Amino acid sequence: MRHFVLSALISSSLLSGFVDASTAVPAPATVLGFQLGEWHVRHDQMEAYLRAVTAAAPDRARLEVIGRTHEQRPLLQLVLTSPGNMQKLEQIRQQHLAVASGQQAPDPSLPAVIWLGYGIHGNEASGPNASLKVVYDLLSNDAAMQQILENTVILLQPSLNPDGNDRFANWVNMHKGTAAVADPQHREHIEPWPNGRPNHYWFDMNRDWLLLQHPESQARIAQFHHWRPQIVGDFHEMGTNSTFFFQPGIPSRTSPYSPDSTIALTQQLGSYHAKALDEAGRLYFTEEAFDDFYIGKGSTYPDIHGSVGILFEQGSSRGHLQQSLQSELSFSFAIDNQYRTSFSTLKGAVELKQQLQQAQYDFARKIKDKARLDSNQGYLLTEDKDQSRLAALLDLLKQHQIAAYALTADFQINGQTFPAGQSYFVPLAQPQYNLIKAAFSTETSFRDNTFYDVSAWTLPYAYNISFAESRKTPSALSEQAWQPAARQAVTLPGAAYAYALRWPDQQAPVMTARLLQAGFQLRAVSEPFSAQTPDGVRQYEAGTVILPAGLQGEGWQQKLASLQQQLPLTLEVLTSGLTPDGQDLGSNQVRPLKLPQVLLVAGPGINSTEAGELWFATERLAGVSPSMAEPARLKRLDLSRYSHILLPDGNYSSWGDAEIRALKSWLDGGGVLWAQKAAVSWLADKKLLQAKVRKASELKALVTMPAAVYGDKEQLAGRQRIAGAIYQAELDLTHPLAFGLPRAQLPLFKNDLLVVQAPEQPFMQVARYADRSQLAGYSDAILANQFRNTTAVLAQNHGAGRVIAMTDNPVFRGYFVGSGRLLVNALYFGQMFDAGASGDDGEE
Ligand SMILES: [Zn+2]
Repeated sequence: MRHFVLSALISSSLLSGFVDASTAVPAPATVLGFQLGEWHVRHDQMEAYLRAVTAAAPDRARLEVIGRTHEQRPLLQLVLTSPGNMQKLEQIRQQHLAVASGQQAPDPSLPAVIWLGYGIHGNEASGPNASLKVVYDLLSNDAAMQQILENTVILLQPSLNPDGNDRFANWVNMHKGTAAVADPQHREHIEPWPNGRPNHYWFDMNRDWLLLQHPESQARIAQFHHWRPQIVGDFHEMGTNSTFFFQPGIPSRTSPYSPDSTIALTQQLGSYHAKALDEAGRLYFTEEAFDDFYIGKGSTYPDIHGSVGILFEQGSSRGHLQQSLQSELSFSFAIDNQYRTSFSTLKGAVELKQQLQQAQYDFARKIKDKARLDSNQGYLLTEDKDQSRLAALLDLLKQHQIAAYALTADFQINGQTFPAGQSYFVPLAQPQYNLIKAAFSTETSFRDNTFYDVSAWTLPYAYNISFAESRKTPSALSEQAWQPAARQAVTLPGAAYAYALRWPDQQAPVMTARLLQAGFQLRAVSEPFSAQTPDGVRQYEAGTVILPAGLQGEGWQQKLASLQQQLPLTLEVLTSGLTPDGQDLGSNQVRPLKLPQVLLVAGPGINSTEAGELWFATERLAGVSPSMAEPARLKRLDLSRYSHILLPDGNYSSWGDAEIRALKSWLDGGGVLWAQKAAVSWLADKKLLQAKVRKASELKALVTMPAAVYGDKEQLAGRQRIAGAIYQAELDLTHPLAFGLPRAQLPLFKNDLLVVQAPEQPFMQVARYADRSQLAGYSDAILANQFRNTTAVLAQNHGAGRVIAMTDNPVFRGYFVGSGRLLVNALYFGQMFDAGASGDDGEE
């Protein structure tokens, strides 16, 4: 049903935004110094206002700091309820959780628990600004407001992305003149790169509800589970020419894990929003846009928990006043719509209180039956060489309230052994059944094939952890679910000829960085070897980092002992440079390691999300903070400062001869160039990379619909793209860029159509797409076929330098840490291979 309403203004006692003079709670303007909508409120101003409010009404409002952003802004949550409820808040929470988990029958005396979350995209400012007025009105002495507070506990998060909020607020405020300028070409309305939407690392926080890579999301999810709200209002903005949207969205793009009750309640709440907007004569629409499929979004994550997530989208003034299709759209108008739908949510919550509670209770009860009837009992996970990566996945599951139990005896399934001590079982018979099913899903066929966001997010693939479904529960399991191990003080083992650090562990590169930063001399062994240790001969993997005692400077033992205490990994003692198998430690093949000096090209023209992901991964996985420079500055930079240059996906058409010359001469001098997606095509075009490339346009043209009518346009476009699927690559495990990877199969995230054909010359292909490579998510079969046996990672010499090209993004959304190892290896071992392209002799 589509609603386009142009009705006369009907006044509403509840929604007309009165001000009650009798309250002691200060109005926003008295604290801010301006009326809401006149200026964009900064996060510190928001905090000041909420502190003033809680000081004035401590009986009804409690401000909590639930975490901090990367830039150290407090993440705020205001709890609002009646004085009576506030006094027994913890008791209410416990009783509410008992009903929500199906342990206690629904209780009509309990208030509804309602979450209002604003501004997860920092440049969608009408929500956070409206939230202050929502708070003010709720704390007035009006009887209608008191009735809402009696019947609800409101968890109001005024700004879900404070770092982005302030980036945007400062931009629009600094361009505001005496009178607002509506001209869309005015600088105020055009944010610079990167805009205010993402967080500090340029990540979209509304894709991180499942992945939890950032402190904002970790704090939010902890609160979600602490309270299990019945409604989650998620307030956004969309393009300036759009009106207002509220869910329900497109029915066929709802997550299959969303219960019917959620879909029905979303419809019922919709009538409250419609009424509120009808009364004010506002335009709006429903059911024709917005994907509710990917479970890592703010309106979908609650749905699959039996809550009701509601997405709201207000056309953005993106500034104080902007010309839109039909009229001038003011910031105040945008704020007013968010304010009205905040109250329609609360009004609906009060009136539908019993249904909301019953739905949550029924959902929890049904989950138990679903788990019982499922032919699978759970999932097995195992990893032998990298306990850090396995622990990272288990920690993510734990944050989602998913328990995993250690195997205490070996378990076999389909010929695969899951050894005790390094394997875990995730039973389906637990309250998070739905989320487990979704997080482990390897589905490749779907009801609707038009995806605007990803169609796959299989967590063990992203973490490159071997896993299997199991129809049996292993009999030998730990009593207690997995817990993060307490950090143990590690002492440096005794005197050594050299110390060895094993490369497969996810923490090894970070530790290598810390050692290099402290001035230690390190070397990396390029083949598997065995070595003498105090416990006899032990085997070591290729890529093992060696710290030879004889190479270190004055006082190194003390420095190493103190570093070892801060670092999580154990250094192993080697007693001799003579190895029984493989390279001796003084071999020329055991290469000195240098701390990577990284330049990340980041600025206008570059995909800011992928640049941010490279920034985040370079720091977190490799222990190195890159320099960043805009593409336009490249030709003026002293590139000799850098050992590595990273080129994210982007448009490189602005680069001409000067940039090509600069890159060539830097490569000739020994630089290591990493390129992904569109940067690969650009390098191939400019002959900086020797590769045969097929571009997206060529692949798209292969997918046709001969009898297509105009109405099929969207469906065809959906088939012609890979919005986000997971593919399997086959690695050359002997190649230095694959060191530390646990097995030849590596899941990669794919949302690009670039094809690099397998090279004719040997030794250049680090990873290729397998013959049958689609692991999870949607791809049209015609497209999927094009990737068979093509190259995923190509690495070749260029002068004394190296060019490494990847068709995809190895660190998608930060959580693809498995394939992230390819990037890390390029930083530490990028000079360790030798594979000359035609015309190059490969000599250094
Ligand atoms: Zn948004």
